[in-house]
Amino acid sequence: AIEFAQVEKRFGQLKVLRGISGHINPGEVVAVIGSSGCGKSTLLRCFNHLETINSGRLVVNGIDLSAGSVLSAADLRLLHAQVGMVFQQFNLFPHMTVLDNLTLAPRKVLGLSDKEARQTARILLEKVGLGEKAEVYPEMLSGGQKQRVAIARALCMKPKIMLFDEPTSALDPELVGEVLLTMQQLAEEGMTMVIVTHEMQFAREVADRVLFLNQGQVEEEGPARQVLDSPQSDRLRAFLSRMS
Ligand code: ATP
Ligand code: MG
Repeated sequence: AIEFAQVEKRFGQLKVLRGISGHINPGEVVAVIGSSGCGKSTLLRCFNHLETINSGRLVVNGIDLSAGSVLSAADLRLLHAQVGMVFQQFNLFPHMTVLDNLTLAPRKVLGLSDKEARQTARILLEKVGLGEKAEVYPEMLSGGQKQRVAIARALCMKPKIMLFDEPTSALDPELVGEVLLTMQQLAEEGMTMVIVTHEMQFAREVADRVLFLNQGQVEEEGPARQVLDSPQSDRLRAFLSRMS
C-alpha cells in the first residue's frame, strides 16, 4: 500500500506537488492522468524515493518516506526490491543479453545464485511472451519487446508494487497493444499498480481508480469509469476532450 498526505515537492522555487494526498490499496490498479507538467512523474518518483519530499507524510509498504524521516540503507534496499518501476525509456543495458539484464539485480541486490536468478528470469520472460529472446541483446528487439523485457526485469525482484511512467509513450502505435496486454495480465493477477498513462481506453478498462492531477494536486478521483465517463470538474472535462 501507499499512503500520502499533504505531500509537497519543490524544485528550487517551483512547487510541483502542492499538498497532494491519497492512497493506493494493495491489489489496486490506479491510473494517474493530467496535463504535461502537472507532477505525475514527480509523484511516482517520490513513491520509490528517486525524489525526496519537502513536507508531508508518505509511507510505501510500511517504509516511512515522510519529510524529515531518516531512511536506513537497509530500508532503501527493501524499498527498491518491493517497488518496481518501468519508464518510458526502457533503460536496458545494451552490452548485456536479455537474460543477463534480468538476473543482474536479483543476484546483486537479493543475493540469489546465478541458477536461481536464471530460473526466475526464464519464467518471467515466458510470461511476457519472450521466452525465445533470452540470449539476444536488446538492440535486436522491437520497442514493444524491449518494454516487455523491462517489465519482466522489474518483476524479477518480486516487487509488491509496480510503478509505470508512460510505458507506451515512446512506442510505435502498432507496438502499444502488446505492452498494454502484458500490463493487463499483471493487473488481473492482483499486482498493485500505479500507472501514469495517456491511454484513456486502457485506464478505463484496466484501472480500478483514476487520479486526475492538476498543478500538483488531485483535482478529481474515483472509480475509473465514473471519472472518465462522467467527469465533474471543467478541467477534467477539457482534459478528456483534448485526449480523445
Ligand atoms: P509530462 O506529462 O510532460 O511527463 P509530468 O506531469 O510528469 O509531465 P513532472 O515531470 O512531474 O510532470 O514535472 C512537473 C514539473 O516539475 C515540471 O514543471 C517540470 O519541469 C518540473 N521538474 C521535474 N523534475 C525536475 C527537476 N529535477 N528539476 C527541476 N524541475 C523539475
Ligand atoms: Mg512525466
